[in-house]
Amino acid sequence: MTDFASTRSAFHLPEGITYLDGNSLGPMPTHAADRVAAMMRDEWADMLITGWNRAGWYVQPRRVGDRIARLIGAGEGQVVIGDTLSIKVFQALSAALALNPSRRVILSDDGNFPSDLYVAQGLARVMGAELRVVAPEEVAAAITPDLAVLMLTEVDYRTGRRHDMAALTAQAHAAGALTVWDLAHSAGAIDVEPLGADADFAVGCTYKYLNGGPGAPAFIWVHPRHAEAAAPCLQGWMGHAAPFAFDLGYAPAAGIERMRVGTPPVIALAALDAALDVWDGVGMADLRARSVELTEAFIEGVEAACPGVTLHSPRDPAMRGSQVGFRHPQAYAVMQALIARGVIGDFRAPDVLRFGFAPLYNDLGDVERAVAALADILAAGAWDRPDYHRRAAVT
Ligand SMILES: *Cc1c(COP(=O)(O)O)cnc(C)c1O
Repeated sequence: MTDFASTRSAFHLPEGITYLDGNSLGPMPTHAADRVAAMMRDEWADMLITGWNRAGWYVQPRRVGDRIARLIGAGEGQVVIGDTLSIKVFQALSAALALNPSRRVILSDDGNFPSDLYVAQGLARVMGAELRVVAPEEVAAAITPDLAVLMLTEVDYRTGRRHDMAALTAQAHAAGALTVWDLAHSAGAIDVEPLGADADFAVGCTYKYLNGGPGAPAFIWVHPRHAEAAAPCLQGWMGHAAPFAFDLGYAPAAGIERMRVGTPPVIALAALDAALDVWDGVGMADLRARSVELTEAFIEGVEAACPGVTLHSPRDPAMRGSQVGFRHPQAYAVMQALIARGVIGDFRAPDVLRFGFAPLYNDLGDVERAVAALADILAAGAWDRPDYHRRAAVT
């Protein structure tokens, strides 16, 4: 059994704060600060350029990728780290389109995160493809024989609704299409296995449930059957077969290495590597059970104590990731009032209060405190103050 009290104690959780926003930015594992400081002091400062070899900076994207592979049920050498998630979506989608050259249709849904759709729109323009976007519940019916790529985010960032990755992948394959899955709200939140689901490509964030820190680099997984065939559209020197030969022509590196682009963010990787230490010994089945326990308790508590909000997430935990949304007409102001009381969730337009439950550090005490604060704010109308209605740049 995973000891979640022990994983919770690995984090710096500020006094007086109940943090339910790890689906946007995970908190800092306490030892990450020392790890980054040590990297700066012992590696960058003293080793200078030799750190690429002596401190292993060059192989870090693969080495850290292998640590993430375990969390998503993938094998060694199948995951590499680098760039932002938007760029990794671009790479996966362009490679998938190139592997299915006789077809040009990309299918996605309107529950997807906008950046993924923007990337697909831009790629569709330059690669002469067409992006079709349907409602999440219409995806299965929209898988047609002209489809090149099915591109979905497994867990909806607003509602927490979870797609059936294995079933949709099987259906897409039967129709002759490839799949690209975005695991931004899955990796570290639920038991997810793109390899087990026979998916083709998967990408994800490390600053959400994996707690790598703001701007931590993203990851990409490629199914081994495509590893030597997938052609990255963003061809950079770090993904070249021999970067230090400085050839003028591009030749892809073997396997997953070709999905690297440029110089890796070594300082950020030190923080991410430290954050992944907390995952050592965590079982994914335990993680899932804990997530269901927390989200079920929260839904039950809010529905019993908070009139005026309506559940915006699937009621069946099997259909849900590790976050819960509730709708309220004044959701923005309600969330500001919650934050003022130390309960941090977030607001998603137009009227959703969103709460992420990270099994690694959230517990039933967090659930109780959040329910009590929300009940209190709604009963007293405490959200109705001018400063709670004023919108900040980042919501
Ligand atoms: C968080 C998130 C992103 C963010 O992409 P960045 O390039 O890292 O800013 C993209 N897609 C999805 C599905 C997300 O949840």
